[in-house]
Amino acid sequence: MSNVDNNDEKKAVLRFVIDNYREQLKTAKEEIKPSKISIDYTLLNHYYNQKFSKDFLQKNYRMNLKYVENRINKGRNDKNYISLSLVEVPPNVLLHDLDASYNGQLISTKAMIKNITPIQVKPKTVAWECRGCTRLQYIEVEKQIVEPSLCPECGGRSFRLLPESSTYHNVRYVKLEEPLELRSGGNSREFKGYMEDYLAGPHHNLKPGDVVDILGTFNVERLNPNKQDFEFMINLHNITPVNDSFEDYRITESDKEMIREMSKDPNIYRKLVDTLMPEIYGYDVVKEGLLLQLFEGNRPFEDSFKSDYMDRWTIHVLLIGDPGIGKSQIISALKKRAPKIISIAGTNTSQAGLTSSAVKDELTGTWAMEAGAIVLADTGILCIDEYDKLTPSAQKSLNEPMEQLSVSSAKANLVQTMSARTSLLVCANPKYSRFDKYQDLTKQIDIPDSNLSRFDLVFALEDKIDKEKDTRLATNLLHKENFINEVDVIDTDLFKKYITYAKTECFPILEESACKCLVDFYVNTRQTALRDGSAKPITTRDLMALERLTIARAKTELRDIASISDAEHAIRIYKEALKTIGLTPETAGEKENVLSNNEAELIQEAEGMIEHFRSMDGMFEDDIMIHVRHEIGVMSKGMKNIDVDKILEAAVKNVDG
Ligand SMILES: [Zn+2]
Repeated sequence: MSNVDNNDEKKAVLRFVIDNYREQLKTAKEEIKPSKISIDYTLLNHYYNQKFSKDFLQKNYRMNLKYVENRINKGRNDKNYISLSLVEVPPNVLLHDLDASYNGQLISTKAMIKNITPIQVKPKTVAWECRGCTRLQYIEVEKQIVEPSLCPECGGRSFRLLPESSTYHNVRYVKLEEPLELRSGGNSREFKGYMEDYLAGPHHNLKPGDVVDILGTFNVERLNPNKQDFEFMINLHNITPVNDSFEDYRITESDKEMIREMSKDPNIYRKLVDTLMPEIYGYDVVKEGLLLQLFEGNRPFEDSFKSDYMDRWTIHVLLIGDPGIGKSQIISALKKRAPKIISIAGTNTSQAGLTSSAVKDELTGTWAMEAGAIVLADTGILCIDEYDKLTPSAQKSLNEPMEQLSVSSAKANLVQTMSARTSLLVCANPKYSRFDKYQDLTKQIDIPDSNLSRFDLVFALEDKIDKEKDTRLATNLLHKENFINEVDVIDTDLFKKYITYAKTECFPILEESACKCLVDFYVNTRQTALRDGSAKPITTRDLMALERLTIARAKTELRDIASISDAEHAIRIYKEALKTIGLTPETAGEKENVLSNNEAELIQEAEGMIEHFRSMDGMFEDDIMIHVRHEIGVMSKGMKNIDVDKILEAAVKNVDG
């Protein structure tokens, strides 16, 4: 009886696919390579539910689909096999909640790829030849290859595996973890996923850090037939990357309307600043800087990922402050309200954990790249507390992503570039108990110059002895709620959406007068510095930072034009930030003797980079030179008479000693 029912179900699904996907089937059948047809689950389920009064997704959904697959592939082979996959399946569980009670269930959820193995091959059906009578037996491989126990022809018990008569398919393993926006603090849970056939094929461009919708069966599996160890495994039926930047998927049309309406409020900028961290009193300029960081400069349209020498749009901020001065409150406030943010501590983070690492998969023995924090925070903010506790080489490893928005690595024969379009917010303690703004900044913090110069804004958080402020700060810490009510704040969810909308849909153009304002400021400051003989004038890096801040300021009001007042505002914030570390724009340049000693500086930088890249296992010398050349190119922008070839040559010579 149930068998008959089941047959009806199978045939009904076949009918549905043939009727609704006629065109796709026709195209797929003309293909000479494997292809996939995506079946809209909502439509299928509606049809199925009307016919059988139950949902399509139950334990035998796979059998039903497999039946249809077999029928439409009749007379075809693996080379042009047509796979079916369900799409638009509503999520039914959070990755976080999966446990033993879900064993055997079909799950649909959102996850983030932590790492993914290369495509591997595994036998699908193994051909065994009897050593006695040469009779062939074909045995389908489930998880393990199993030898037949008996030959039905001659009763022989010894067999030979025939590789050429066996069939094979692609398999891949993927490590899945909770997407950032669904994490509720603490460590994230992760699960292993298994893909085979078409799903594991080369057409996917899945990479660590991608957010994906997954559909599959959640199982408890034995790690190894000889062991008593079990683990969870998601046998994937489908894995679909969610819109790359993934932030915008929650914003509805009515949200957009509301956001556009909000942007017309003449007080919107003030409200945004106040909403960012209402629990913290004071630090107004810091708040403004951090707000602009969230809004970013202009992403390229289409978010097309990196062409050479493309200017970055991320804004990096460094906060220096004595211990116990509220840095952690600032971080926790941001964590509540930034649309996408990962926060880590420098004390327990390795270079690998920051950028990328090669990890060996214990099940398959193959290597896979695992994304570090800056990759996982792609398009958002990576917040690093105790930045000074990172090793200098770990700090320097961030030079590439900070400027080029990517992490490239060549380890264990894997060469990979991952997106890291991440703005960095880092906090550091001064080396000697207190920060002294009358002393040179570089001597007071443990951050290499080459890294330090990549921050757009550096703030020293001063703990001024100010009785009124202390009282208010203390009061606020004790009665947070009361204080929040004092200022006009925006609902947190709406605040996040507002920022996300601005990041993905607003691309202001710098008005000519704004551009002139920035250039004038730069040129005048530089000339004053030259005339006064200051050792460290403003550099082109600062000019680029000012441009980003100007754009970000216009984005806070969703304007298409960045005006002169945006530029003036950016300059004000920039100057205020400098003031906190005891500098003026005239003395704000990145390094000492930058005028007389540009080349020496660049050579030293190049040496550091060459040594760093060479220390990475398996990176080719040619690639190293490409990277270093690029970096030096960027760094020497705006410097006169710099011959990059000469710099590289000298650096190589010095390193090779
Ligand atoms: Zn035999």
